[in-house]
Amino acid sequence: MNYRGRFAPSPTGLLHAGSLAAAVGSWLCARHASGQWLVRVEDIDPPREVAGSAEAILAALPAFGLEADSTVIYQSSRIAAYDAAFEQLQRAGQVFPCWCSRSDLATANGLHRDGHCIAPADPDRPPAWRMRVPDEEIRFIDGLQGPQGQLLRDVVGDFVIRRVEGFYSYQLACVVDDAWQGITEVVRGSDLLDSTPRQIWLQRCLRLPTPRYLHLPLVLDSQGRKLSKSERSRKIDPAHPMPSLRHALSFLGITPDENARHPAALLDAALAHFDPHHLPQCSDHRVP
Ligand code: GLU
Repeated sequence: MNYRGRFAPSPTGLLHAGSLAAAVGSWLCARHASGQWLVRVEDIDPPREVAGSAEAILAALPAFGLEADSTVIYQSSRIAAYDAAFEQLQRAGQVFPCWCSRSDLATANGLHRDGHCIAPADPDRPPAWRMRVPDEEIRFIDGLQGPQGQLLRDVVGDFVIRRVEGFYSYQLACVVDDAWQGITEVVRGSDLLDSTPRQIWLQRCLRLPTPRYLHLPLVLDSQGRKLSKSERSRKIDPAHPMPSLRHALSFLGITPDENARHPAALLDAALAHFDPHHLPQCSDHRVP
């Protein structure tokens, strides 16, 4: 199958140095493989959404020379597909309703791991829905971080795939859409490395293909903390894209071409020497 990669931002704020590095890294890997690069807006968590940020992110990408090869998908328009996946899991007995409060969960060390709710059922309140996890290590080989394994039962337990308010989790929506969009390679930040075993488990239960995964190093702030869109991390300026784009390339271990005068030229020069095998596993670059 031809390579298909993607960049899947959540509209919880503007692009920052970390999300730009993920966008550039996934774009370079896709172009290097002569593949396609798609963009998906993960707008399925209305309480965390920042008004206008989806539009701002989508407007910023081309300013950095990053053009999607196909129409942008919005997860808010895909609820019927998540309903269908959820019903498939329900029919197969792979999910269970859960009425646990935080304190119920605290008594279970914060983890559900027995495939059933420990609180009494409450017909007057809608439940969250949790995925039953196996007592088995989920293993995969990350394209950059190497062999990975996670015993879901001990690390995350039976995880929520549909919240009390009826919103589907990132894990479920991501898996359904990666398969639907025919994504063959997921390139994203290492903050999502520990989500991948949950996603692989969902793919197995839903009988969906598992793409290859490559987790890029995380961009850290000057104190060594992960940057996040929702925190006040330094914003990048799409009106002056060259400094941030140069920084993103250096972060990915690529020496930016000093002669390039616009983003597309800078990206083309980077692509000419790009080799995914030379991406850094971790990076010392910090954003001031
Ligand atoms: N939407 C997620 C984020 O913005 C990324 C999801 C993914 O790449 O799988 O952090």
